[in-house]
Amino acid sequence: MTISTASPEAAPPATSPGPAAIIDMGRVANLVHQLLVELGENPAREGLADTPDRVAEWWNTFLSPHGAATTTCFTESQLGGQLVIVGGMSVWSLCEHHLLPMNLQVTAGYVPHGEVVGLSKFGRVAHHFAGRLQVQERFTHQVTDYLKHVIGHENVAVAVRGVHLCMSMRGVRMEEARTTTMLAGGRFETDPVLSQQFLTLTTGLWRAS
Ligand SMILES: [Zn+2]
Repeated sequence: MTISTASPEAAPPATSPGPAAIIDMGRVANLVHQLLVELGENPAREGLADTPDRVAEWWNTFLSPHGAATTTCFTESQLGGQLVIVGGMSVWSLCEHHLLPMNLQVTAGYVPHGEVVGLSKFGRVAHHFAGRLQVQERFTHQVTDYLKHVIGHENVAVAVRGVHLCMSMRGVRMEEARTTTMLAGGRFETDPVLSQQFLTLTTGLWRAS
């Protein structure tokens, strides 16, 4: 067995939006302080005294990838041909249009070609691309492209079910609305049986959650 690793940021496209490398926490706290003033609050009152620092700290944590620096692949020549699905991955991101949270439930499937990906890494990849201002469609693309890059072929499918607070607490106020995005490559596009198996298992996982 051999082990290879890849970094998410090595994956294309390099031009896609992403977090700044370093955040000036003092400056962010200062801006939150100003925002509170503009919203008619008194940032000096007891409940708000530490809020700017707390919010700055949160932004810093949110925008820092959660240990997704590398993804491990294990070469296993005997393990080809089966469908592998990793579901139940739930990550929080922020909608870039409204700066409101969205919860993304991610299911990823692939067919190993002699290389299997360490299973826990799927969750790390999802966290990595969730930790920035996002739209669900781009997130789905980034996770899929990255997995294709790591796995080294196109036989990858990713389905994402999102709950967007910008739909439930503002605008149309649809509490029950769910947005589903899916990208399928390689055999998932051309083999109806494989594609159906992925969909059946994915919707089964969602129903169970
Ligand atoms: Zn939104």
